[in-house]
Amino acid sequence: MSDKSAVVVGAGPAGLGAALTLARLGVQVTVLEKENAVGIHRRGETIRFHQGMEDLLYKGFFAEQAIHRINQRTYYSHTGKKKADRKISTWNLIIEYPRFVQTLAKVAREAGVEIITSAAVTGYNKTAGRVASLTAQVSGGAKEFAADIFFSAAGHNDPSADKAKRAQSRLDIPIRKYLVRNYAARDTHLEYFFHVDETYPAIAAIFPRGNREAEVLYMFLTDAARKPEIPTDFKKVAGIIDNFETTHPVFGAMLKGSERYYETNTLIPMGDVGQDILPYENLVVVGDSAGHVEGRGGSGIRSSFMMGHLAAQAAVKTLLAQGFSEPAGRDFKKLVLESEQMRELKDLNLKFGLPRRAFFGTVTNPGAMDLFWFALEFFMR
Ligand SMILES: Cc1cc2nc3c(=O)[nH]c(=O)nc-3n(C[C@H](O)[C@H](O)[C@H](O)COP(=O)(O)OP(=O)(O)OC[C@H]3O[C@@H](n4cnc5c(N)ncnc54)[C@H](O)[C@@H]3O)c2cc1C
Repeated sequence: MSDKSAVVVGAGPAGLGAALTLARLGVQVTVLEKENAVGIHRRGETIRFHQGMEDLLYKGFFAEQAIHRINQRTYYSHTGKKKADRKISTWNLIIEYPRFVQTLAKVAREAGVEIITSAAVTGYNKTAGRVASLTAQVSGGAKEFAADIFFSAAGHNDPSADKAKRAQSRLDIPIRKYLVRNYAARDTHLEYFFHVDETYPAIAAIFPRGNREAEVLYMFLTDAARKPEIPTDFKKVAGIIDNFETTHPVFGAMLKGSERYYETNTLIPMGDVGQDILPYENLVVVGDSAGHVEGRGGSGIRSSFMMGHLAAQAAVKTLLAQGFSEPAGRDFKKLVLESEQMRELKDLNLKFGLPRRAFFGTVTNPGAMDLFWFALEFFMR
């Protein structure tokens, strides 16, 4: 494969998973990253161990990355009157996101991947069903990058997205996140707070990071949030969480005295996994761009990385080996969409999404949530 080349857009977990695998299989790989360093936009801070991912990186990778570990969770109803404690079978590892992604990049570079930072892709130049090149803004101005195959792993704001070709059901969910210092509450549990007093359900969460730090997240509940009134306006989302801090008795008390030191409002893409993975004969879409997110916490990073790896492996075996023929495209899709990894993603989304949707379809005020708490306990895993 040494005469084949690939350009990967985005140095996040999905892009780096794809790039690493392509390079190891002999493809010349260039990754274009729009920011001036990898991992600077902090996305996930919690991850679960994944043997397949560790095997692709190095032994001890997860242990090395973990700054704290937790296997207890507590869920609180909106009023704070009901709560459920859970011990989970797989540890949630708390990571330092920039360091984590930089380590993925280091392993990829060691395998021969070239990563160009400050290179924002602005256009895909397409001709008759294929991508000929893409244009990126680099320090000297606009530059074209040609290759045999392209991977789009640019996250929620995927620049390859062709509206007509994207799944109609896909939903980008606004999410607000901040990191706090002087977190004085317990360091031993992930704390979850359900929120129903708006017209849409949501969940707030506190992930302690050890050393009196914590990550605070607020997001709408994915499947349950498929309603037109979901706000896409970050100001409103920010206002809701700030308000929730004062109205939710337990949430507010836990954050009392803590001080924010990093804040971001961003989007988490949700929708039918496995859609649009090959929108053009030589363009593969992976990670958040293709909705490769598990319907439970601590899994987006590893599932994006593994989907990048899997798609790269399949692309080398089919598209690059068989010259982008129609049967090669079919074989590629079959390998990816019928993989164990994809089945797991779909199963998890079904297992957690459906009961959630049913519950929040009926429970629309804080008092009703307390009344039907037993039903909610069913899918708190
Ligand atoms: C606030 C938040 C918290 C989360 N928490 C967790 C968690 O705790 N655990 C977990 O496992 N998952 C978590 N997730 C999900 C997880 O972060 C994502 O599923 C994962 O990062 C997706 O990886 P990706 O590579 O597809 O996209 P991203 O991580 O978004 O990476 C995309 C990369 O592409 C670059 N890029 C974008 N546009 C361009 C362009 N035009 N040209 C060049 N480069 C471009 C970006 O700068 C970025 O580096 C969280 C997500 C969010 C939003």
